Amino acid sequence: MRYFSTKRRSPGVTFRDAVLAGQPADGGLFFPSEVPRWSEEFVKTLPSRSDPAIAFEIIRPYVGGEIRDDVLSEICSDTLSFQFPLVRITPDILSLELFHGPTLAFKDVGARFMSRCLRFFSEGRSRKTLVVVATSGDTGGAVAAGFHGMEGIDVAILYPKGKVSRYQELQLTTFSDNVTTLEVRGSFDDCQRLVKMALSDPDLHKFADLTSANSINIARWLPQQVYYAFAIKQWDSDKPPVFSVPSGNFGNLAAGLLAKRSGLPSDRFIAACNANDTIPRFFRTGKYEPRQPVFTLSNAMDVADPSNFVRIQKLFRGDPAALGHVLEAVSISDADTETTIKNVFAKSGYALDPHGAVAYRALFDHLQERPGSRGIFLETAHPAKFEVTGRILGNYDVAPPALRELSAKPEYKVEVDADYEQVRDVIKSRI
Ligand SMILES: *Cc1c(COP(=O)(O)O)cnc(C)c1O
Repeated sequence: MRYFSTKRRSPGVTFRDAVLAGQPADGGLFFPSEVPRWSEEFVKTLPSRSDPAIAFEIIRPYVGGEIRDDVLSEICSDTLSFQFPLVRITPDILSLELFHGPTLAFKDVGARFMSRCLRFFSEGRSRKTLVVVATSGDTGGAVAAGFHGMEGIDVAILYPKGKVSRYQELQLTTFSDNVTTLEVRGSFDDCQRLVKMALSDPDLHKFADLTSANSINIARWLPQQVYYAFAIKQWDSDKPPVFSVPSGNFGNLAAGLLAKRSGLPSDRFIAACNANDTIPRFFRTGKYEPRQPVFTLSNAMDVADPSNFVRIQKLFRGDPAALGHVLEAVSISDADTETTIKNVFAKSGYALDPHGAVAYRALFDHLQERPGSRGIFLETAHPAKFEVTGRILGNYDVAPPALRELSAKPEYKVEVDADYEQVRDVIKSRI
């Protein structure tokens, strides 16, 4: 397997080099040279396979022998050491719970897989590896937890001040030693821009090998395909489900569509967005016109210029008709998100987090128009991570111990403007 830039101006590289570089020099994203097919036998026997065994089969062709089978198998088991239950909310709507990992959000899987690949590839190297990452809420915590304490690897995390929940912030700031946390006076898109500048800064490259841990890194992006296989493993019908994916940077959805290309049984996909509606507007008008990001209840999806959308376009060779056949995109307001959280709790006792609520609502609306269809939405974070859940549901307070314990820990963070010089100075002082 080789990895090419979506811009096709850089030569293909190996899995290892793509993971270490994070992003091609031409500013595109790495994309696999071929999409492996899942065998019919594999799909049929999903229910009898373990989660790590499923992940191993899916990821193996992408690694192309660059990690020995026994090591890769161990990385898969180690990464997936928690559950991914499919929970029935209504007869037609099921929740795929992706929040049972250490930081209670789905990004744990990609972050844990990537940290273990990176450790494997950096073994025996004399230079330090520096991972720089922007977070809209959950990436940073997952990356910090995934990399914390790893020798030879430093991590710098940038997050937008005041735009993440209190628990999300504590998950970013309660590490120290090899983790540096920068609180940026700006938006997530500012953080993303600053990370791109750091990654291409020759000055920083003098001190360490730089890579990103955003979903643009293939070691974070590719393993997300396994969620969809885990869903089908637990699906109870021959008629495949509609998948509704709460989308911000579009990595999770792009992974689902990649799995579909490999043979994942599925009906349509829904890109469920909040008020940041660049992609829903693109579907209506054919024009990709990002606006200023707006801040919403589902803060991890406050992305105006989603990086991974180019991968989806690549998968469909830029053909809007082929894409429209498989995918639709909708925008759900904060008001509808709140109503959905309230109503679903009242009717079924199920507490949605704001991101899952966006996807639930998009799926619910979709099924209204297609009687006989059933679907799965991806519940990407634990509801207790967000104060808003408590506000909407009254005295809802079921924060698991992993969250409650954070409040007692000391915090480490450096506040900076959305200014690259300041960011660079902080990072340099720490490596
Ligand atoms: C990151 C995140 C999303 C969006 O995922 P993308 O892959 O960026 O589209 C959705 N929900 C939660 C809770 C997240 O943390």
